[in-house]
Amino acid sequence: MAEQTWPPVAPPPGALALYRGIAAEPAPNGWRLAAPLPDQVAVADRLRAGRPLVQLVPPVVRPASFLAVVRRLARLAAAHLPGGDGGKALGGTLALFQAARPDSLALGRLVVKGGWEAEPTAAFLLEQASRAYLRAYAAEAEARFPLLRQLREGAGVWSLPVCPICGAGPGLGRLEEGSRGGAGRRLLLCQRCGAGWGFARFACPFCRDAGPVGVVTVGGDAIAELHTCKACRGYLKVLRPGAPGNPVTWDVETLYLDLVAEGMGFRPGGSPAGPGRQPSETPAPPG
Ligand SMILES: [Zn+2]
Ligand SMILES: [Zn+2]
Repeated sequence: MAEQTWPPVAPPPGALALYRGIAAEPAPNGWRLAAPLPDQVAVADRLRAGRPLVQLVPPVVRPASFLAVVRRLARLAAAHLPGGDGGKALGGTLALFQAARPDSLALGRLVVKGGWEAEPTAAFLLEQASRAYLRAYAAEAEARFPLLRQLREGAGVWSLPVCPICGAGPGLGRLEEGSRGGAGRRLLLCQRCGAGWGFARFACPFCRDAGPVGVVTVGGDAIAELHTCKACRGYLKVLRPGAPGNPVTWDVETLYLDLVAEGMGFRPGGSPAGPGRQPSETPAPPG
């Protein structure tokens, strides 16, 4: 285990306040799971075949509802980011919608796909709005299909390095308390829909190298550690048991670890062509 010293960095205060504001937003309305709903057996079969739920039951999102969420996020961005021009980004978003005119089914597909092609602030707002729907989608799906809740506990039929609910790559990891003080399971966390699932503790989730991953800690840091891969040079930020906070803010709260990793020559999610980081990457708020 390599130990590093704290890099001279704190998250930009505006960015942290913005993510806290996003975390405090109410769950959006104006969406539903596509009908007809499959039964538990069909969902289990699909997962066993390595297909995330979203391919079987996509979300259906009303454009008017989605734009209302984008407007609220634009107000938050304008309030918290120095020079953050929420008005201009909102104008860009509305123009994008007027050009594409997605219906509710098409918008649901866009929310799942992510990677919005727009100027940076508009792309940030669109991704954050998409995540709000995906978090609501994951919560509803877990309420309807109990086997999805088991995945969050690291059990069940899914062991791939992509999210079993929305199909995104892992954004963060989380260690669980082991029994009798030993090492517990490592869950991967989805930065888009908030789902968690078990994955081999010492393997790399980006190139699937069997490992063991390197573990890098920052002296005195009880919150999180880095898992690094020699094979693909990727890194994953991993929360320790009991790390406080909210999944929406964890990524920005642990920016110091990105600096440590990049200083050691590692890249988020492995090689640029690796599947790990897109579109799960938390976009840096522009400005
Ligand atoms: Zn997900
Ligand atoms: Zn790797």
